Parts: sequence; structure tokens; C-alpha cells
Amino acid sequence: MEHLTQIPSDALAQLRDAVGEQAVSTDAGQIRELSKDSSVRSKKAEAADRPLAAAQVVFTPRSTEQVSAVLSWASTHGVPVVARGLGSGVVGSGLPVRGGVLLDLAELTEVGEVDVVNRTVTVGAGINLGDLDTQLREQGLSVGHYPQSLYLASVGGCVAMRGSGTFSSLYGNIEDRVGELEIVLPTGVVVQTRSLPRASTGPDLRQLGIGSEGMFGVITKVTLKLVPVPAAQRFAAVRYAGFEGALETVRRALIAGVRPAVVRIYDPTEASAKHARFAQDAGWLLVLVFDGDERLIATQEEIMLDLATSLGGESLGPEPAVHWEQRRFNWSWFTDAVDHEGGIAEAIEVTATWSELPGLYERLKKAVSPHMQEFMAHVSHVYDQGAALYTIVRGEYADDAAALAAYDATWEAVMAETLACGARISHHHGIGLERARWMTEELGSGLDLLRDLQKTVDPAGIMNPGKLGL
Ligand SMILES: Cc1cc2nc3c(=O)[nH]c(=O)nc-3n(C[C@H](O)[C@H](O)[C@H](O)COP(=O)(O)OP(=O)(O)OC[C@H]3O[C@@H](n4cnc5c(N)ncnc54)[C@H](O)[C@@H]3O)c2cc1C
Repeated sequence: MEHLTQIPSDALAQLRDAVGEQAVSTDAGQIRELSKDSSVRSKKAEAADRPLAAAQVVFTPRSTEQVSAVLSWASTHGVPVVARGLGSGVVGSGLPVRGGVLLDLAELTEVGEVDVVNRTVTVGAGINLGDLDTQLREQGLSVGHYPQSLYLASVGGCVAMRGSGTFSSLYGNIEDRVGELEIVLPTGVVVQTRSLPRASTGPDLRQLGIGSEGMFGVITKVTLKLVPVPAAQRFAAVRYAGFEGALETVRRALIAGVRPAVVRIYDPTEASAKHARFAQDAGWLLVLVFDGDERLIATQEEIMLDLATSLGGESLGPEPAVHWEQRRFNWSWFTDAVDHEGGIAEAIEVTATWSELPGLYERLKKAVSPHMQEFMAHVSHVYDQGAALYTIVRGEYADDAAALAAYDATWEAVMAETLACGARISHHHGIGLERARWMTEELGSGLDLLRDLQKTVDPAGIMNPGKLGL
């Protein structure tokens, strides 16, 4: 741990005076539990009993006012503060690497009245996204944001990481579902955005929180734009001999105005690994789920399947897509590999244009092969201009040290090839510690601008120092 900041005892006493003795915990077990995340590196460090980071104290606020009091105290004393949602982040962005205060937001779970007419609800940022969705469904509404970590992530964490859900081609990503934010700046000042239903009032201040990775303040409340629970769902799947046919089907379907909620294109390795009935040499698998009015989605499915057939696809009926839907929260491919000595796995997601995608897939596959025994990939989220490519790598080594060396080499290879193709280095997992060193190449002078912004918003440099490549 570099530059670990010890909180002076008189400053700690002042904090306790401000927020109450009981609210500030120095319990070693709690600190250890909350100072980790779900990244591979953090998991391996835990297994070796050498945690990557440790906060000095944990503070669990119950109100915006308490968050403001702690941040203003921290700014005065130069104490690092890291906000924590539910710890499902996978790139080390929530690790308190410089010690200080861990702000455990798990008690900020208030759910405001659901505005059924305007389809909004305002919630505490610490609420579990899946629990919120379950509550909303009783009123025929839903969050519209369904990451694989639906039941592992907080609403605020999804916003801070600029997350993406699996049904994103219809409902958008988290930035499309955020109506308003309440953000407490590192100085303690509270900012409430005013954006709904749309506003032309200068730069959009919601962007201070979206993708901030907890560096520009603490998101305390989120107003979500809700979606109706779909009246109907249709499932479809198509087999292709090659990647290009599947990509072209989706590209043209989007041009035609077809909007499936889920679009996944699995390479032959992943298709056979995830779908037992799909033989290894069976080709590429396109999985589709349509949400909405039955007549509307029946027509969309028909147009898409016509396109698929004209581009060499073979319709497989709904079964592979139903199978996908039933297993979409299963991540045993990851835990089975990482949770033992010498085993390693990672998912690295990048974004490329339609024209870059086939070449990028081949380059990544080739670049990873010297380092990892397994490589598979799928297109996970699609846009008018391109798509996210989600690569999965796995390997078995003599011990964790060898596994982590292969892991580092894999990251290096994937990032280098992605940048060489002109593609984007992350689609939804974010930067944190894992991608930090590629941010200069990725953002260029934009990174200097972010640095200046950080200095303005956080003059004492207390918020989650050392992340996002800043
Ligand atoms: C099995 C699994 C599947 C996953 N699938 C997906 C997926 O499909 N899509 C996806 O986008 N991600 C996915 N993730 C990654 C992870 O769930 C997301 O990054 C999620 O948004 C993190 O939310 P969290 O509440 O757990 O945040 P944490 O891990 O607690 O924190 C993550 C970062 O956000 C900051 N932060 C958290 N809350 C706040 C707040 N209120 N204000 C300011 N900063 C804050 C923290 O400081 C930290 O930098 C997956 C992770 C796992 C383990």
C-alpha cells in the first residue's frame, strides 16, 4: 500500500464528535471485509492473506447530511475517503489503497414514492438494485437495468461505474436510466441536478457522478427513469458459420428499426461451453430476446429472422435463448477457476465499431493464446455504430504467482491490441486500478482535463485517490 494516510487521533476525535461515537467503526473484521472488492487481484490477495488495501475506519452514514459532514471533515484534515456500494466492482476501483475512511453506503436504502404517471422513483444510492426491482415489479414497473450483478450491486455503484445491463439494446445503459442525482462534493457541498425530462441548461451535471468511480463526490440519491414490465417476451436463436453473418444481421436489423432487448453473439467456443447442446464445431450463436407488446415484438422477430436467413443464418427456435435467460446470473465459470491456487479467469470487455469487430476478435484471440489456455468471446451489447466484445480467458498454473503473471500478460496483450485497433478499452467494467495505466493513451489530453476537473472539485484530493488513471 503506497502513501497510506494515518488519520491523526485529534482529527478522529473531531469526527466522532461530529457524527457520534458509534457511527465510526474500527472493527478489524469489518474493515477487512469492506476493504476488498470482486476483482481477481483482490480475491487472490485475500486468498494469500495479504489484502491489497485497508481503510483505517468505516463510517456508515444514514443521511446525506452525515455524508456531507464526513466529507467536509475529511477535506479539512486531508483524509482519503472511498465510497463503497456493495463491493461487486471488478477492477479495484473501490479499494481504499491509501487507507482513510471507507464510507459504507449500505444503509442509504430509502425508497421514495413511485411516480407511476411519470415513471420515476428516487432511492438511496446504497440500495441493492435487484431488491429495488423486485419491489417495483409489484407496481408493474422495473428499473430497466439488469447487469449480471443485478442482486450484487447498489444503484449508486452502477451509476459510479457507468454500468451496463444485459437488456441494454432496448432500455439503454445506466446513463439512460438516471433521471437525477444528488451528489455530495468532496468539500461537503450538496448538488442536486435538474435534468428531467430534459434540460438545455449547460453541461449535464449528472455526468459528474456517472462513471466517476467515486472520485468526484458521493452519490447519495438517484432518481431512476423506470420502464414498464414488458407485456410479452419472445426468444429466438440463430446459428451462423461465421462471425460476419451474425454481425451483419444485427447491424441491418438496427437500421430497420428492430430493437431486441437482448443481443448476444457467441463464438463457437463459448457457444458450446454455455449451451451443452451446441456442439463445438456448430458455429456462432446469435441469442435474441424481445420485450414489449406481443404484436410489435412478433413483427420485429419476423423481420430479424428473415434478415438472418438471407445472411446465411439457420433459425434454431427459442430454446438456446430461453436457456441463456435461465442461466444469466451464473458466474461459476469465473469462481470455479479463480477460487483455487493456480487457477485464473477474467472477463475483459472492450467496445469497437462494426467494421473493427471481426479484426479485433481475431487479434485478441491470437494475442491471448501465449498466456492463457482458454479464450472465448461474445458480443454482449449493441449500438448503431458498433458493439461491446466481452472476452473470457481462463488458465491453470503451478501456483497463484504464475497465474497472476499470466493474468498481467493477458491484460497487457488485450489492451495493446484494443488500442492498436482504435477501439475503446472498456465497455462497462470501468478503469479502477486494473486499466489505469492505459488511460493516457485512451483519453490523451482529455485525461489532463479530467485531472483539472478533479483539482477543482476536490481541492484537498481526498476522494478515492489513485484511481481512474488520475
Ligand atoms: C458476477 C458479476 C457480474 C457483473 N456483471 C456486470 C454487468 O453485467 N454489468 C456491469 O456494468 N457490471 C457488472 N459487474 C461489475 C459490478 O457489479 C459493477 O461495477 C457495479 O456497478 C458495482 O456496484 P457496487 O455497488 O458493487 O459498487 P462497489 O464495488 O462498491 O464500488 C464500485 C466503485 O463505485 C464507487 N461507488 C459506489 N457507490 C458509490 C456512490 N454512491 N457514490 C460514489 N461512488 C460510488 C466506489 O467508490 C468504487 O469506485 C459484475 C460484477 C460481478 C461480480
